[in-house]
Amino acid sequence: MSNCISAPVLVLGAGIGGLATALACSEQKIPSVIWEKSPDFKEVGAGIQLGPNATKVLGQMGLAQDLKALASVPQKLVFYNVKNGSTIFQRELASKIEQQFGAPYYTIARADLHELLLTKVQNNSWCEIHTGQSFESLAIDTQNPLFVQAHNTSGAHLKTSAVIGVDGARSATRNYFYPDQDLYFTGQIAYRALLDSQKIASPYLLQQVSVWLGAQVHVVAYPVLQGRYLNIVVIAEELHLKPEMQLWHKQLKPQLPANILDLVLKNQLLSSVFQAIDSWRYWLLFDRPPLSSAQLMLGSGGTTESLKAVGQKVALLGDAAHPMLPFLAQGAAMAIEDAYTLSLQLAKVKHNSQSSTFDIPLALQQYANLRWRRVAKVQSLARRNSAIFHWHGLMAQCRNMGLAIVGPQLTEMAWLYGHEIK
Ligand SMILES: Cc1cc2nc3c(=O)[nH]c(=O)nc-3n(C[C@H](O)[C@H](O)[C@H](O)COP(=O)(O)OP(=O)(O)OC[C@H]3O[C@@H](n4cnc5c(N)ncnc54)[C@H](O)[C@@H]3O)c2cc1C
Repeated sequence: MSNCISAPVLVLGAGIGGLATALACSEQKIPSVIWEKSPDFKEVGAGIQLGPNATKVLGQMGLAQDLKALASVPQKLVFYNVKNGSTIFQRELASKIEQQFGAPYYTIARADLHELLLTKVQNNSWCEIHTGQSFESLAIDTQNPLFVQAHNTSGAHLKTSAVIGVDGARSATRNYFYPDQDLYFTGQIAYRALLDSQKIASPYLLQQVSVWLGAQVHVVAYPVLQGRYLNIVVIAEELHLKPEMQLWHKQLKPQLPANILDLVLKNQLLSSVFQAIDSWRYWLLFDRPPLSSAQLMLGSGGTTESLKAVGQKVALLGDAAHPMLPFLAQGAAMAIEDAYTLSLQLAKVKHNSQSSTFDIPLALQQYANLRWRRVAKVQSLARRNSAIFHWHGLMAQCRNMGLAIVGPQLTEMAWLYGHEIK
């Protein structure tokens, strides 16, 4: 490894954000080591939408062709009224988005995207990945204060030049620096299922992103696995649930609750789709207020002097820095953007530095400065949508009338999809 820093960057977590971080760093010839808590990768069957802001970055990381082979390209986005199945509005995706933003709009199985990134990391000599390694503590290296000694729960340790906490919404890294966690249960649950395309009587569903809006519930469906499956997400308010029930996403629930079914099954199309589904997986949705400063993406705001000192070399990324409600389909996209921005900032200070231990705190600060406002805006918008999508009665009628007129323009979002990272 020529022209590299003398200790690798430690990436905590091998989700989409962590893997993207390691790959983006490798593009800049910056070595990284990933510690992943899970002993293996068992991806649950669910899809994600990748807007052109995300596919552009993945393209810049050399993944465009691989991604194209795995993804589906929805032709349009259609919003429906769940009650009577009528169309509220629609807009073109496939042809228009790529023309407008220079990158496609894809839908993809999360497992496919994760596996693609993982394979690239495993075959990349700048990256090292260790599973079954859960982060435990950090300390300034006693021999050389430019480095950090990181310890994990298996007793292993690593001398590292920077630590990037990409360990999800319940981030242990974040908790290490900011133990007063303000993550809260939103009262919403996402039920997810995959349905074999053979069982779908309305094949146009496999050509588009469909969104049905209803009282306290909405349903999203789009193709994954190159149209062989329909990914279905139902997001519902279930305020009676308590966060301490800790259901999280591990368990299977055989069927949706009766109140949700009652509402959704009045819609003939959805009724036929839902009846073909054998089982659902579900996620309780947690959130935290949108970022209010760059500091919250860094470890340097830790509460004690020793935390502050080691925190100079620590940044948070992806859901660890900014959990994202799925109402704008941008959580993974923001993690991918974060990863690429971070790698460019690390590269900039590396190239400007005379020494082999370049100015990590400066690079991390610049990363956070560049990211926090954009991410906060996306978080706020996703939160706003979480309320608007579930309106009922008169407010829902007004929303639908408004969307019928301005829906296509509202979903253009050039500031979001056309973002350039330099
Ligand atoms: C219903 C739903 C739909 C969504 N739809 C979309 C969409 O359409 N488009 C989109 O862009 N986003 C979407 N998202 C959001 C997206 O999935 C997440 O924002 C994204 O996966 C976050 O990636 P991450 O790498 O930051 O975190 P994660 O994917 O949570 O990865 C964190 C990793 O860190 C590991 N880890 C945890 N603790 C430790 C530790 N102590 N030490 C080491 N490793 C650790 C975990 O095992 C995990 O592998 C959706 C989310 C939900 C819930």
